[in-house]
Amino acid sequence: MDVYILTLFPGMFPPVVNASIIKRAQEQDLVRIRTVDLRDFARGAHKTVDDYPYGGGPGMVLKPEPVFEAVDWVRQDLGRNPFVALLTPQGQSFNADLAKELAEKADLVLIAGHYEGFDERIRCLAHMEVSIGDYVLTGGELAAMVVLDASIRFVPGVLGDKDSALQDSFSDGLLEGPQYTRPAEYRGLKVPEILLTGRHEDISRWRRKEAIRRTLKRRPELLETACLTFEDRCLLEQVINEEKANEARGDNCGHYQTN
Ligand code: SAM
Repeated sequence: MDVYILTLFPGMFPPVVNASIIKRAQEQDLVRIRTVDLRDFARGAHKTVDDYPYGGGPGMVLKPEPVFEAVDWVRQDLGRNPFVALLTPQGQSFNADLAKELAEKADLVLIAGHYEGFDERIRCLAHMEVSIGDYVLTGGELAAMVVLDASIRFVPGVLGDKDSALQDSFSDGLLEGPQYTRPAEYRGLKVPEILLTGRHEDISRWRRKEAIRRTLKRRPELLETACLTFEDRCLLEQVINEEKANEARGDNCGHYQTN
């Protein structure tokens, strides 16, 4: 997968793309990431990339020419037309399904805006507009990093354990259940006994049940669209009954109190 990030702040990316899993993915040639400085495509002695908004109003607007010309350059560099996604709070909400969809692209261009916004004509370049949430960032760089990071996890071979992306929250429409590691007991807080038994079938059933419980308690609306098997529905019924019984006893999982 070839990813080009068009940005006015390429210096923000090295700490993110040269660390951890993204770094390894590049070393293994699974992903190639390039930042493209929009200022390199600006015209004039001052390399101006922004201008006042027509009609007046606050802030500056990213000019169309540097962005169009940077996309032209990427097309030439690749020798084909890449898929272009524009980061904007007005775009389609980013989620795991969209991350999977983007991970399937052979070439992906992410355009990070800045300033008060970008010239409306820049939207013509994009196959898709993507928002990472209902809030406004100062620039699209952090949004590009989020989209890049979440999408790369779905590129085959990027995650060491081939199943781990599939077990993550949202991959099958549910939140992931609780995870534990050693020690088996810490400050009186114990790991559920089932996890210490080595009985793999029972453990995976317990995990599924706890994923359903967690989803029911935190994001019940996800259960309406999740792919639940007959066994999942039985587990859900058990969980609902257990939670009702817990509530009747006033027995909600307490938070650990420090002294
Ligand atoms: N005035 C614009 C608006 O109301 O839609 C917001 C401009 S914002 C200050 C500057 C840039 O940050 C945007 O052009 C976009 O690239 C990026 N950005 C801000 N919030 C974002 C979000 N939630 N998701 C994706 N990109 C975002």
